[in-house]
Amino acid sequence: MSGLRLMAVHAHPDDESSKGAGTMSRYAAEGNDVLVVTLTGGERGDILNPAMDTPGIKDRINEVRREEMAEAARILGVEQTWLGFVDSGLPEGDPLPPLPEGCFALVPLEESTEALVKVIREFRPHVMLTYDENGGYPHPDHIRCHQVSMAAFEAAGDSAKFPDAGPAWAPSKIYYIHGFIRRRLELFKEEYDRRGEPFPMQEWLDRWRRPEQGDIMARVTTQIRCGDYFPQRDDALRAHATQIDPNGTFFVVPMDLQQKIWPTEEFELAKTRVRTAIPETDLFAGITTDGTQ
Ligand SMILES: [Zn+2]
Repeated sequence: MSGLRLMAVHAHPDDESSKGAGTMSRYAAEGNDVLVVTLTGGERGDILNPAMDTPGIKDRINEVRREEMAEAARILGVEQTWLGFVDSGLPEGDPLPPLPEGCFALVPLEESTEALVKVIREFRPHVMLTYDENGGYPHPDHIRCHQVSMAAFEAAGDSAKFPDAGPAWAPSKIYYIHGFIRRRLELFKEEYDRRGEPFPMQEWLDRWRRPEQGDIMARVTTQIRCGDYFPQRDDALRAHATQIDPNGTFFVVPMDLQQKIWPTEEFELAKTRVRTAIPETDLFAGITTDGTQ
């Protein structure tokens, strides 16, 4: 299906390239409009690529991150917009320090929700993507991204809410993006074992093998085939050069092996206003452009 609109809401620049990027790139290539909404400027992200940790880069980090984001969007074939909130940073220490004044996670929910509702009413997405209630990763901006997305999904279609934010539009579905699939790594490991080679992501696997952690696959409702778009995903991620070490673990499993063993990305249908059958293989399943079902 083409001619539909997909909106992905993300906390920081680079999140769009590590979560659901192959899926977005595929839907864009198939003739749909895809918009990434980036809630914050990523101002408090550390430089994670040793090669980029230089004074020339550090001094203009905000500008650099905007350039990186533009390049990543170009590679994925998607549009992108900023909501203009300020990165809350990942608090570290014991006890945890208070969040910095004025940061996104401290903005009243009503205020950030209205800002997102405005973009939803302009772009009129059929489907939205966001994070689950745990943020997929315990960063205050990721948790807040979930809260704002869910509140805006509900409010955007209600003309009584935020009347100054444009005419009402109710997106049909909203999904959580599930990136950390343990089974995927286990299958990669089995392939390395077969080849008699050490598995380079063993440390990650061990971290997820703790018995108290369930497998998020139990929550997945929807798998999107997008192996052909993994190269775009990786190139987009590398475009965020200050955030991503090109020699890091993320790129260590060869592309052809990933495409063969696990060519999909995983989503959980969180709310829907249309009828659909689970499991799904298409985010737009059940949606028609003329409003019929
Ligand atoms: Zn993030």
